[in-house]
Amino acid sequence: MQSRASIERRFRLARSTLFIVWALASMAVVFWSVRAAHDRATVDVLQKAGETLSVQTETLTGVLDKYRLMSPLLSRQSSVASLFIRDGDGNPQALDARHMALELAGMSAAKDVAFLFPDGEILGHAHGAFVEDGVGLHELLEAARQGRLGRMALALPDGERSYAFSSGVRRNGRLVGVVIVYVDFYRVEAAWALSAYPIFVTDRGGTVLLSNQPDWLLKPIGRFKSAAGTEPAFRFGEGLQSRIDLTRNLPLLGWDLHVLADPAPVFAARLSAGTIATLACLIAGLLALIVMRRNENAIFRARSDRATALRLERLVRDRTRALSVTNQSLSREVEVRRTAETRLRKTQAELIQAAKLAALGQMSAALSHEFNQPLAAIRSYADNAVRFLDRGDTGEVAGNLGRINSLIDRMAELSRTLLAFARKPGIITGPVPLGHVVDEALLLARPSARAAGVMIETAESLARFHVEGGRIRLSQVFVNLVNNAVDALTGRGDGCVRIEARADGDMVLVTVSDNGPGIAADEIGQVFDPFFTTKGVGEGIGIGLSIVDNIIRDFGGSIRVFNRDEGGACFEIRLRAAETDSGTDKGAVAAGAG
Ligand code: ADP
Repeated sequence: MQSRASIERRFRLARSTLFIVWALASMAVVFWSVRAAHDRATVDVLQKAGETLSVQTETLTGVLDKYRLMSPLLSRQSSVASLFIRDGDGNPQALDARHMALELAGMSAAKDVAFLFPDGEILGHAHGAFVEDGVGLHELLEAARQGRLGRMALALPDGERSYAFSSGVRRNGRLVGVVIVYVDFYRVEAAWALSAYPIFVTDRGGTVLLSNQPDWLLKPIGRFKSAAGTEPAFRFGEGLQSRIDLTRNLPLLGWDLHVLADPAPVFAARLSAGTIATLACLIAGLLALIVMRRNENAIFRARSDRATALRLERLVRDRTRALSVTNQSLSREVEVRRTAETRLRKTQAELIQAAKLAALGQMSAALSHEFNQPLAAIRSYADNAVRFLDRGDTGEVAGNLGRINSLIDRMAELSRTLLAFARKPGIITGPVPLGHVVDEALLLARPSARAAGVMIETAESLARFHVEGGRIRLSQVFVNLVNNAVDALTGRGDGCVRIEARADGDMVLVTVSDNGPGIAADEIGQVFDPFFTTKGVGEGIGIGLSIVDNIIRDFGGSIRVFNRDEGGACFEIRLRAAETDSGTDKGAVAAGAG
């Protein structure tokens, strides 16, 4: 995997490259946008201003054309030619000439119409300002003398302007007078005044003759370079302003008609296009940056995820390996423990068996007495029977034989119980009848008790219960408990052991109590410990109660001991009530409890 530093270096390089590309592309886009907007707006402005220029050119040439024809036409009229005939006294017809001039000026809306003799003497005129001032008169008369159409732009010092056309009046081929028509530009300028554009006409010398800007009239138009250096600037009132100058040459007059368009829309279009393009480039750059950042983050995240996954994988592998090692060692340990447990169980079983045989050994004297006594009785009954037979008293013989039989039965039962008790117990547990187990145990323990002068009482309730357990092991429990009680009671004349049972929920509570000395308070907690004994050497080895405790636990029960208030020890055993074919012993428990 690449190191983080090298990836970051790569990203930095990519970012720098992208920035340069972005900057170049942005400059190109902004330049192109401004250029395109400029061209578009310029075309637009030029188109509109161009339309105005065309219209105003037409208007102006139309007006001039109208008056251009007027003076030649007038000069050919006989009524006009007759005006130049002097009366008999040699006086000119000044009045008629004035009337006609007024009439013609009024009809044609010309600024003035004037009649002059070829030498410059004024015959008559309508208004007379220009003709009396004499401005341009010489050139106009000279053109008429030469038979040309005289034409000339005129201006008076007071600012009055006009354009004059002159034609010679001939009679019989001889020049008798000149007609001059002065054009009035008032209407043209009035029309221009309505336009939003500055419109003006310059003559060849660059002097403004007509304009909708009154300040410019009769002044040379100042033309400067604009600040930007792109558009020509014109002095407009106070300031210097850039304007797009659209010019149309009027060849007949030698004039230029100008329409000045405001380039502000072009600047505005350039500005807005530049702004929009810049913003768009900035946004695009920003987006690219964000995308790039996200991409970088995603790569870093994926890298860190991958690293985490690898770490986890390694960890899991290590743990799995460690676990399998632990597992193997655990399996081994389990095996060892299982073997140890099996061995322990076996040892325990052997111990139980050994303890049982030890108990039998302890009871052997009493038990052999239990056999010897009936044997002696049988001998005595048999001797007597022989004697009665000799006497021929067969009735007594039969009686003695019957007694012998019952003694043999008793011995056979004891022998059967002894054999069963001495057998190695199995490990299987099941429902066992509590009364029978106690009876069997007492069959073995009673002879010792009798020998010690101890009485054993059993409650009738015992016969009602079945408990979960093993028959031989359970009878071993009772044999141990009764033997211990008998040991404690030996030497007392009123010794008594009592075995009772009662129900306690799902359990059966069996008590083995005596009226002996009880157990010392400092020893009562140790009596179930292995090898705890208070008996002398050869009398006890201290494993009886420990085995009892183990057996009861194996059956899922418990045992405790306490000293009775009235004296003596009481062992309380809790055993699980067993379910039998005839129903659970809970019924019996209930009956017992009742
Ligand atoms: P052992 O009988 O070999 O001593 P046990 O484990 O059977 O071993 O008994 C342990 C001890 O508990 C006895 O030595 C005795 O002191 C005491 N003990 C048991 N049962 C009784 C009882 N019914 N009354 C008084 N002490 C008893």
